[in-house]
Amino acid sequence: MEIKTTQVDPQYMKAKPQDESQLGFGHIFTDHFFIVEYDAEEGWHNASIEPVRPLSLDPASMCLHYGQEIFEGMKAYRGGDDSIYLFRPEENIKRMRRSAERLCMMPMDGDLFMEALKKLVLLEKDWIPRGAGTSLYIRPTMIATEVALGVHSSSRYLFFIIVGPVGAYYPEGFGPTKIYVSEEYTRSAPGGVGDCKAAGNYAASLYASREASKMGYTQVLWLDAKERKYIEEVGTSNIFFVVGDDLITPPLSGSILPGVTRDSVIRLAGSWGVNVLEKQLSIDEVLSANENGTLREVFASGTAAIVSPVGQIYYRGKEYMIGNGRTGSLTERLYSEILQIQYGEKEDPFGWRVKIS
Ligand SMILES: *Cc1c(COP(=O)(O)O)cnc(C)c1O
Repeated sequence: MEIKTTQVDPQYMKAKPQDESQLGFGHIFTDHFFIVEYDAEEGWHNASIEPVRPLSLDPASMCLHYGQEIFEGMKAYRGGDDSIYLFRPEENIKRMRRSAERLCMMPMDGDLFMEALKKLVLLEKDWIPRGAGTSLYIRPTMIATEVALGVHSSSRYLFFIIVGPVGAYYPEGFGPTKIYVSEEYTRSAPGGVGDCKAAGNYAASLYASREASKMGYTQVLWLDAKERKYIEEVGTSNIFFVVGDDLITPPLSGSILPGVTRDSVIRLAGSWGVNVLEKQLSIDEVLSANENGTLREVFASGTAAIVSPVGQIYYRGKEYMIGNGRTGSLTERLYSEILQIQYGEKEDPFGWRVKIS
């Protein structure tokens, strides 16, 4: 399918941010977006890249009532020689197709998705920042647009991609975070949609996050919904523990999100000879490993930060210091290796990088 491109009139082009240290996350968007419609008669149609505009939705559009809304999160990186790279974009495309399947939405055509990504990022190339650790964040989204009430799957969808420059996650260096174990609230239950980037999961997580934040913690560590015992993930990231010589992460049980960064960490660490285990780990096991000195490092993984060291854990009224509260050596090595692969500064042994310019 042809993607029709309409460029913004130069006089309406937005001013690009001058100070890359002030980019932050998720506040600045570029001039154009990709949008395509789906209905049963025409399939995917009207694919276009055009000036970003507000969407006009009937108040009875189904996404506004029953939560058929899914998204993805990925980035484009500018290398030192001005090459532009995506990182494992096929994984995000596959994951969004799986999310669509699970929420009875129409999976987006994979080839059109990839073409739209490349075209839009190239058109907005000048928006990709240059500073270390900065990137262009990419947010593919799909919403149900049939105009009807009554719970059923929509017959119409809108798929769009917006992009915007984001700053380095660690502008002041790589510091450990404090996390809060939520016992009262859970993120997702077995048989639910916790393994999809479905909008409702994030609304459901806000209450516990607010509680954590009131207590002075940056993220919630989620336990399993059934026994409130096994570690699931942290905030919107997956989680890893270095216990003795093992690197342990919870298995993809269906209630955690299968992170692209999680998979990259597992494969990279495995290739270095680290013994990587995907197995259930209870909060008690973690704290007793911490007590007896075998818990050496804890870190979260996700597209936003790559890896994010955990320095303290709050559980049942007590705060536990992990290791010595400093960033561990494996955490540091994984961070630096993945970053260098993403920015084209290092060999890419797994073929993860996609050079688009
Ligand atoms: C997006 C997300 C992750 C991380 O996935 P990546 O593909 O590594 O960015 C982990 N957990 C949740 C709940 C998420 O939404």
